[in-house]
Amino acid sequence: MSGKKIPVEPFKIKVVEPLEKISSEEREEALRESGFNVFNIPSEKVFIDLLTDSGTSAMSDRQWGRLMVGDESYAGARSFFNFEHSVKQTFGFKNVVPTHQGRAAERILFEAILKKGDMVPNNIHFDTTRANVEVRGAHAIDLAIEEAYDPDIELPFKGNMDVGKLESFINEKGSKRIPVIMMTITNNSGGGQPVSMENIRQVSQICRRYKIPFFFDACRFAENAYFIKKREPGYADKSVLEIAREMFSYADGATMSAKKDALVNMGGFIALNDDGLTEKIKNLLIISEGFPTYGGLSGRDLEALAQGLKEVIEEDYLEHRISQVEYLGELLDDAGVPIYKPVGSHAVYIMADRFLPHIPRPQYPGWALTVALYRESGVRAVEIGGVMFAKKDEISGKDVFPKLEMVRLAVPRRVYTISHIHYVADALVSLYKKREKIRGLKIIYQSPHLRHFTARFEEL
Ligand SMILES: *Cc1c(COP(=O)(O)O)cnc(C)c1O
Repeated sequence: MSGKKIPVEPFKIKVVEPLEKISSEEREEALRESGFNVFNIPSEKVFIDLLTDSGTSAMSDRQWGRLMVGDESYAGARSFFNFEHSVKQTFGFKNVVPTHQGRAAERILFEAILKKGDMVPNNIHFDTTRANVEVRGAHAIDLAIEEAYDPDIELPFKGNMDVGKLESFINEKGSKRIPVIMMTITNNSGGGQPVSMENIRQVSQICRRYKIPFFFDACRFAENAYFIKKREPGYADKSVLEIAREMFSYADGATMSAKKDALVNMGGFIALNDDGLTEKIKNLLIISEGFPTYGGLSGRDLEALAQGLKEVIEEDYLEHRISQVEYLGELLDDAGVPIYKPVGSHAVYIMADRFLPHIPRPQYPGWALTVALYRESGVRAVEIGGVMFAKKDEISGKDVFPKLEMVRLAVPRRVYTISHIHYVADALVSLYKKREKIRGLKIIYQSPHLRHFTARFEEL
């Protein structure tokens, strides 16, 4: 054991869910049946599931207790007011509208404010955010700092927006065509990197100067606030809640997937100050999500969410959360496994093209690594690379690959222990030692959109 500080869980286990490790023959069969696509493998055949941190959190005993006191009244349920109170305490915005998950919040907000041809800057759009902008005929523009795309530059706040680029963009396009500026905290599609308070303040000033509303995509706001506390001068003595409230004070609203930093398995909301826009949003909500005091959620969901928002800002929770992910990164880094640095808040990203330099991009090294990892150990990870993000060149018809070819190990909140983390690291280190045996793949079936979910492959 090296001298690393082991993150000790600040909870004990009251309920257990058995895990079964199936034999390597069964894993081989599961891979063949899935078309070498881990999205198609039933979760019962997965030993440790690092596919996503979304909706996979373990709830606390207090959250489970709150489920029993959910008020399921259609209108004006007590649980709604508990939820509303909790969101207002944490976010500080005037109005709160529940939705069934984050993308519903995005869809409704954008339906209310975007027209065809509009543009939405963001540090980096998450895929559902991008899709919800584009489906309205608007353009999703990523303006993160250049360093966000370099896995080797270690900066404390690699999720920051490039404020110079943002301002020239506004000057070039005109503020009339930009109905909102978004900022994703932490920056999920850019390695889960945090954004600094200074950067938030600067973006906010630009938004005010050009009279453009400023919204957060706030899924991992508590993790972002914790990084500010640890890394930004002047914040060490502030509470995470104070930091979160300061972050949100610079904005006009936020969309939220409660499946991340509200520690529940389903839920979301929009929080905002503008009363007129809130009315518009509530009217759209009624058409698809439901009445504004439940928005696609049951009373008990709203109770658990209200409680989750209180727990997610507790410092011993966050310290463990962030250090558990970091610890996994250190175990891999120490063994020479190439990872994106620094480690972000919710996942470790492996640089798959460096892990498997003998597999050319058109044979999908990231995908090959997810297959090899499952085969070796029953661990499920997700490719964030050529299969997920390649675009067809209109003229040559060939794939144009994204800059980064990665495999993401997303760590669910409060679900896995330190032994699970060691198991995952050991599996990857052992694979790394025999990496030249791993083969590339070719696609034998794909759908026109979001092909990674359903594509089928053959090994070369
Ligand atoms: C998960 C996520 C969303 C979408 O939320 P869902 O609850 O999955 O619909 C939006 N933005 C970011 C940054 C996310 O991580």
